[in-house]
Amino acid sequence: MFMHNKRLQYTVRVSEPNPRLACMIMEQFGGADGELAAAMRYFTQGLGEDDPGRKDMLLDIATEELSHLEVVGSIVTMLNKGLKAQLAEGQMKEAELYKIVGASGTSAKESILFGGAPALCDSAGVPWTAAYVDSRGEPTVDLRSNIAAEARAKIVYERLINITDDPGIKDALAFLMTREVAHQKSFEKALYAIENNFPTGKLPGIAKYASMYVNTSQGDGDTSGPWNSGEEWDRVDDLEQVMPVDGGDGTAMVKLSTADKKMASKMATRTQSDATSDPMTGADLGAGPGAGRTKNGDMGGADTIQDAAAMGEAASRKR
Ligand code: MN
Ligand code: MN
Repeated sequence: MFMHNKRLQYTVRVSEPNPRLACMIMEQFGGADGELAAAMRYFTQGLGEDDPGRKDMLLDIATEELSHLEVVGSIVTMLNKGLKAQLAEGQMKEAELYKIVGASGTSAKESILFGGAPALCDSAGVPWTAAYVDSRGEPTVDLRSNIAAEARAKIVYERLINITDDPGIKDALAFLMTREVAHQKSFEKALYAIENNFPTGKLPGIAKYASMYVNTSQGDGDTSGPWNSGEEWDRVDDLEQVMPVDGGDGTAMVKLSTADKKMASKMATRTQSDATSDPMTGADLGAGPGAGRTKNGDMGGADTIQDAAAMGEAASRKR
């Protein structure tokens, strides 16, 4: 069961209202790397987890992320407090109110639709979606995703800290940012506490492909590094050598039933192209200046975009 304690995990001291900053901080409320996404990610993983240690950790961190959601939502609420009251009471001159709503961010949704309350949206007013949670129900996969999620949350907090000069908000955001660092460390430990955590899952990789690096982008800029060269890698520069890697003929094939085979051949015949034909088309019939070579002759073209504009002008004046 959940219990609620009325005190926040970290005290929220906001110097003055700032609806525009509130809008930006919403990114960590209902955004892709925000606290709701983090809480739901770990809560659902924790429910499905059988390992007692991981289950305990996931539910601890999920609950802490909900506490972070509470801190972020409280910052947003304080930053919007003036705007919310002014909107609700309608005592300000229209022009003045219009000005503060207009200054509240990339869209007026946060003010007009939500009245300055913390909504489950990101900084652009896009509603939160469960699609932000990418759990797959396999700890060696999900812990890696969690490590990346904490790294993303950390960097978003860092950006918010860099755009804020309010010392109390900076302070609370630095706390939240640092907790993501701590969470990342826990998830890393939990991942490496699983023996043979790579590759993910149970099936081993196929030996001859597991250490192959294929240099498929060739030319100036080809670089060697520990990711593609040295003891651990069989680097393939001759692409012909790996096309196809299985030594087969590299075609795609399938066994069809007699009925399917008959239909496939009928369809192929019906849609066959005649490479010897040179049909008159709508492009030929309608060809004008700039169309290049057509059945109506060479209609020419422009050498530069400026010439093209001049050609277009001349053609439209003629019409
Ligand atoms: Mn958090
Ligand atoms: Mn976290």
